[in-house]
Order: sequence, then C-alpha cells, then structure tokens
Amino acid sequence: MSSTQSLIRFVREFYQSNEFIPLHAPHFNGNEKSYVLDTIDSTFVSSVGAYVDLFERQVAEFTNASSAIATVNGTAALYSALYVAGVRPNELVITQALTFVATCNVIAQLGAQPVFVDVERATLGMCPRALETFLDQHCHLKEGMCFHSSGSRIAAVVPMHTFGHPVQIHEINRVCARFGITVVEDAAESLGSFYKGQHTGTFSPFAALSFNGNKVITTGGGGMVLCESQEVGKRVKHITTTAKVAHAYEFYHDELAFNFRMPNINAALGCGQMEQLHAYLSAKRALALAYQAHFDGSELEFVCEPEHAQSNYWLNAVICADKHHRDEFLEMTNKAGVMTRPVWQLMHTLPMFKNAIRGPLDMSVWLAERIVNLPSSVPTVSEVK
Ligand SMILES: *Cc1c(COP(=O)(O)O)cnc(C)c1O
Repeated sequence: MSSTQSLIRFVREFYQSNEFIPLHAPHFNGNEKSYVLDTIDSTFVSSVGAYVDLFERQVAEFTNASSAIATVNGTAALYSALYVAGVRPNELVITQALTFVATCNVIAQLGAQPVFVDVERATLGMCPRALETFLDQHCHLKEGMCFHSSGSRIAAVVPMHTFGHPVQIHEINRVCARFGITVVEDAAESLGSFYKGQHTGTFSPFAALSFNGNKVITTGGGGMVLCESQEVGKRVKHITTTAKVAHAYEFYHDELAFNFRMPNINAALGCGQMEQLHAYLSAKRALALAYQAHFDGSELEFVCEPEHAQSNYWLNAVICADKHHRDEFLEMTNKAGVMTRPVWQLMHTLPMFKNAIRGPLDMSVWLAERIVNLPSSVPTVSEVK
C-alpha cells in the first residue's frame, strides 16, 4: 500500500468517519450556546458587555500577558498592534514570505511596505540569521533608529509562529534590540504554544491572536492584542474603540480611532471555548503524536515542534520529497475526501507584494513547494471529555 493510501486510512480511523474530513473544523460542546443566549436575553450583544471583559481576562491569564484587548478579528488586532507600535506611511516592516496574507495586508493598509526575509526549516518561521544578515547588509542605525539604504525607516519586525510552531524569538529579539527595532509577533496561529515555557505573543511589546473559525478556538470572527503592560493595553483599547475621553455625557475624541472592538455576543462564544482550551490542546497533541508515529520511517517528513518549544499543533504538516510528489499527494487525498492543502503561496509572488524588497528566500521557496497541511481538527466531543 502506498504511503498516501495508508495516510488516508489512518485519518479515517482516527476520526472514525467515512464522510468528508475537513482541515480544521470548530467544536461547540461546552457552554457556548448558553453564554450566547445570555447575551441575547440581556440585550448586551454589542461591543460593551461582561463577556468581553471576562474573555480578555481569561486570555490574559492563560497567556500571562499584562493586558489583552479583544478585537473584531486577528487582522484588526495586528493592524492595531502595528499602529500603536508606531508604523506609519512609507516605512518598512520586515516579515516572512511564508505567511498568511493578512500579515502583509495590514502592513500595506498602514501605508507601509513589507520586506521579506527567509524562514528556517526547523521552525518554518523567520530565520534570525537571515534577519541579521539583511539588516547588516542593507540597513544602518541613525539616532537610535534603523534605516534601509533606500532611506525608509524599518519600523517593525513581524515574525509569525507558523502553524503554531514558535520561532526562535529570543534570537529575533536580540537582533532587533541591536538595531533599535520594535518586534510585533503575529501569534494568530499560536494560542497555546510556548517557547521555553513562556507563551508566544508575550515576547514583544504587542502581539496579535486570531479566533477565526479555523483557529484553535473561535469566536466566529475575533482577535486579541496581547500587550506588555497595562498602560500599553489602555492605549490599544483607546484606538480600537473611538478614542473617547471618559465623561458622563460629552462626546470628545482625542485622536483617530478604528472601532475594532469585539462584540459581546462573539466574546460569549470565546468564554465557552476558553473553558475547553486545555482539553483541545491535549487532543491536538495526541493527534500530532499519532501522526508522528504514523510517519516514522516514511518518505513524508512530519513537522515536529522545534527544540525548546511546546507547539499547539494548530495545523499538522508534512514535508514531501519534491513538488511532483506533493502534487500527487494533494490530488489523491482530496479526491478521497480527506482534505489536505499546500502551504500559502509565498507573499512576494502575489501581485500586491511582487515589488517588495527582500533578502534571499531559498528555504521559503523550498518549503513552499513541499509542505502539505493535514486534517487537524479536535476529534469528537466524547473523545475530548
Ligand atoms: C488567521 C491569521 C491572521 C488573521 O486573522 P483573522 O482573524 O482571520 O483576521 C493573521 N495572521 C496569520 C498568520 C493568520 O493565520
């Protein structure tokens, strides 16, 4: 039996299903329904309400972030984080070409431009050496700020924890400190992932989480900005609402703001999901370990959590021998109703970012031709509990 066929059988057995098996489906088997109904009964469905505050506290407690501010989606969270970090029009933001498009969209929405450096094989995330080489070769420090040879300021560096696997964040922080650059982690995929025991998204002054329908937990649509201090959190809350200065009846707004707050009805869903996060994470780890054992000795290389890291295994992945092998694998699994998909097309190949400044991207190109994501949903209710 071919390795593809045996994988199809393995996945069907694991999920005990002969139906279509999606890549990542949400589960609502806790208090989600009663909390959502509660927001309707109370009429507090919009962006002020007890569930928003509770959800923020739960996520802050879980991640050990000083402050957490809920937003309408992960894209809005990342936009807000970069805005508060000081990214402004015509500046540059360094990120990885191997990421989801939202990372780069927010940079461009702020009027800045993304710059791409390579990823490393062990983490699938930003390579600290590639970052340092790019900065050494093309950038210089002036009055404590970093400028590219084009004259534009490097306003931030955005590493992304791909599929929930933590990047080497200490190394990236060290390089950025050398060049006076603010780090903003795109932790959209890594709720429940730790690096050296510390939660991803808490290594930088600001970071973004996502609670989209396909993430580890969902609020329908939703995101969160993790902040290094209460003070930073207050500022993020200010610009994600209407920047209204507190007053009993006057409407005075002291700066531009974005109305990105998460509605209470979505936060209610989030509170129900947070109660199950630990169970989801252990179920996802069990699935990853089962995949790892399944692929042991196979021609397909299963992507394991990096050294010093504990991954949430949001999306499991294998690395195929080459592009031809990958295409065959995608074709056969999808035809058999077991959903798999290639990794995102590299950002510099998309029309919006084709002229972006970039360093060598050899590992990104190599991985993009070989990575396939595998079904990664938490199995059925009864198995979780
Ligand atoms: C999901 C995701 C986002 C955006 O989150 P949304 O909630 O969908 O807006 C941003 N970056 C990465 C890497 C993501 O995977």
